[in-house]
Amino acid sequence: MIEKDNRNLKLVVLKFGGTSVADVPQIKKIALKIKKEINLGNKVIVVVSAMAGVTNNLIDLVKSTSQTPLYSEYDVVLSTGEQVTSALLAIALDNLNIKARSWLGWQVPIISDKSHGKAIIEEIKTEQISKFLEKNDVAIISGFQGVSQENRITTLGRGGSDTSAVAISAAFSAERCDIYTDVDGVYTTDPRIVKSAKKLDIITYEEMLELASQGAKVLQTRSVALAMKYDVKLRVLSSFEELPGTSIIKEGKNMEKSEISGIAHSLNEAKVTLSGVPDQPGQAADIFGALAKHSINVDMIVQSSSINYEATDITFTIPETDLIRGESIIKKIQKKIGFKKFITDTNVVKISVVGNAMRTQSGIAKTMFETLANNQINIHVISTSEIKISVLISSDYYELAMRSLHTAFGLDV
Ligand code: ASP
Ligand code: MG
Repeated sequence: MIEKDNRNLKLVVLKFGGTSVADVPQIKKIALKIKKEINLGNKVIVVVSAMAGVTNNLIDLVKSTSQTPLYSEYDVVLSTGEQVTSALLAIALDNLNIKARSWLGWQVPIISDKSHGKAIIEEIKTEQISKFLEKNDVAIISGFQGVSQENRITTLGRGGSDTSAVAISAAFSAERCDIYTDVDGVYTTDPRIVKSAKKLDIITYEEMLELASQGAKVLQTRSVALAMKYDVKLRVLSSFEELPGTSIIKEGKNMEKSEISGIAHSLNEAKVTLSGVPDQPGQAADIFGALAKHSINVDMIVQSSSINYEATDITFTIPETDLIRGESIIKKIQKKIGFKKFITDTNVVKISVVGNAMRTQSGIAKTMFETLANNQINIHVISTSEIKISVLISSDYYELAMRSLHTAFGLDV
């Protein structure tokens, strides 16, 4: 639970991702952008990522020291990337005579739980920074990091500085939270795959949440959930061009004309089939309980009921990066469950179409399945939510699937 600070500062939060702070010239450019915001009479909290590529390099350093590192120390290493950019930006702002200083997560403090590498923010103390901003202009906070009750540095998971920025916006009751990145907004689909993808001016929190969790990488999923919960006014904008970006808003407005807002794809999928599962109560609970206990996220699930109630097949998907772990967990309970075979397929991609209109319009599933059929694309697994339909298909066809669905739903520019 984040407590809101109700003092009346006109405050905006600006977050800059790794490519926006990739080198010193870029950091100097951002300092100028921040100056413009101050000239408008705003107080600014800036949240920064590490320079592009730095976090990956830090992970490599840890991994080459140990394959089983102490996660508390892993976080100390990883948090250094953001420390560098926050201080460089403070120096660049000082050069422009702007009163600014840097703050590490523990200095704010941003208090998190102790799950290192994927910590959850519990509380942000606003006292010190609010006081600082009464007499100064810019507080720069290192994204992606917090401090546990045990006084250890934590990190929030890859892409976590989006979550830092949104949580900070909520805690300080900021007017808005602008996420500056290397694309000029949220697109109907990945423009590197579908050339005719177009930028959306607006999208709802819920649609954005589905798109982010289904593989669109523009915002960390958790940050969108948090923005929705605390009504944070969120925008995604380009650091490189002066363009209006995409506003993420509550429901209610009439969105784009087409039935769906976007198409996401996720390559990090593995399909697992347990064949010959004796058809008895409690089997699914045991299988998925064991995976949940080890924090492996199961996504799509299909089980066909057996005709004679003897044995059935259960198919599900988990992240490909968890497959080795998942396999050993399931094989440990093979005797207890009594299934015959453990079959995997990693040559799969999940494609999801997302749109609020699904709540009220019928025929969207029909359009989706017909389009895939017309392109001879076989569907392995289907799953749906109120505003999303996902299919698992062979990775050989995912680009074709995305392009043809983009056209079929009238999203091409
Ligand atoms: N630097 C961290 C990462 O690369 C956090 C972030 O950029 O959001 O994942
Ligand atoms: Mg990011």
